[in-house]
Amino acid sequence: MSYNIAIDGPAGAGKSTIARAVAKRMGILYVDTGAMYRAMALFMLREGVDPGDESRIDDKCREADITIRYEGDEQVVYLNGENVNPYLRTEEVGNMASATSARPKVREKMVELQHTLAAQSDCVMDGRDIGTCVLPDAQVKIYLTASSAVRARRRFDELEKKGQPCDLETIRKDIEERDYRDMHREHSPLCRAKDAILVDSSDMTIEEVIAHILKLCER
Ligand code: C5P
Repeated sequence: MSYNIAIDGPAGAGKSTIARAVAKRMGILYVDTGAMYRAMALFMLREGVDPGDESRIDDKCREADITIRYEGDEQVVYLNGENVNPYLRTEEVGNMASATSARPKVREKMVELQHTLAAQSDCVMDGRDIGTCVLPDAQVKIYLTASSAVRARRRFDELEKKGQPCDLETIRKDIEERDYRDMHREHSPLCRAKDAILVDSSDMTIEEVIAHILKLCER
């Protein structure tokens, strides 16, 4: 049986940075499930699908073949054979992912892929429903959060560093709307699993959060 660590939490809580670092230090795989939903969202955007058109999303998602390969430490997402990693980390794709990931047909497809990866390898998997739905038997479950003001500021700094123009207030509003949608959807909503350990990173540095989680894993 493989060793699995589940990290869930709202947008911008630092999940991917932390999960990637924890996986690296433990010498296990990092599985970024948000990237899979983002690849599906990119497909829908390219196909001109309206985020509110549920039956078209259900229909179209059959045409998207999403697979994962590891190149070195890096998870590379392929959409119908194309490496789409460079296109996934935009606000537009993130917001579309929040709409399309609410559809059970989309989730079914992604969860199947996630189960296969977790069964094959020891891993740290991050997302919204990993501790609650995807890996209910994960050995360690973390619910990583931070205040929406802190999360918006982090995302703002990240985008600025990349030279992408942005507005702090718009980012905060986007984050809050995305959280609301992710927490209130009918299927696999974002919530803390009963046995997940709450980590609030509002007043912690990245290093402090990593050290804290590594300690929890040792236990
Ligand atoms: O974590 P990230 O911001 O990349 O996720 C993008 C969107 O994908 C989230 O807002 C959420 O709607 C969806 N998602 C999900 N379940 C996951 C991971 C992501 O519904 N396990």
